[in-house]
Amino acid sequence: MKPLCLLGLSEAHLVALNEPGHRLQAEARDAFMAMQAAAAEAGFQLMPASSFRSFERQLAIWNGKFEGSRPLLDADSRPLDALALSAPERVHAILHWSALPGTSRHHWGTDLDIYDPTLLPPGKKLQLEPWEYEPGGYFYPLSQWLAANRARFGFYLPYQRDLGGVAIEPWHLSYRPQAADCAGLLTPSLVADTLRRQPVAGKAHILKQLDEIFARYITTTPED
Ligand SMILES: [Zn+2]
Repeated sequence: MKPLCLLGLSEAHLVALNEPGHRLQAEARDAFMAMQAAAAEAGFQLMPASSFRSFERQLAIWNGKFEGSRPLLDADSRPLDALALSAPERVHAILHWSALPGTSRHHWGTDLDIYDPTLLPPGKKLQLEPWEYEPGGYFYPLSQWLAANRARFGFYLPYQRDLGGVAIEPWHLSYRPQAADCAGLLTPSLVADTLRRQPVAGKAHILKQLDEIFARYITTTPED
């Protein structure tokens, strides 16, 4: 994996999924499609909501939240006024929900967000909020199927628990064999070099506390 691929700055590592607009690395794509076929046999339509995401796209999300042109939420999902917060406070508020550009697992072509459109009641839109995937939520049967089956296709949930950093994301699947390689290549110095070269809002504050940010928001536990 070349550093530019790891950072979402190149797309050379990707192949198309059978869904328009979605891409992964070839091995992860094959594993996902095998899992999709097994899910279909169990009555689920396992679909990607988001797969590869470029640095540029993550940058637009980051800068929009930092500069107040996109909604920014606190850890309890209440709206925050970004411009009323100090730069370090904004950085931490964003990191709870969104990755720093260059560090998103969605850059790797190994990770994707999933749902089942057939479980969504008519007129309801996908929110990507935990309750949808938890007991009583529309996608809970799919969550249960994935819990029993994802590991045999190589997938796990890197954001299964809130460890004081990133919010839980029960929809975010990672293809472990290739994601583990990517995680091993992503270092604070590579991220620092990238930040220095790119127009990331708040980067002076991010660079000052990058080791702490790395430990709290970027390093995830490898357990399932
Ligand atoms: Zn995700």
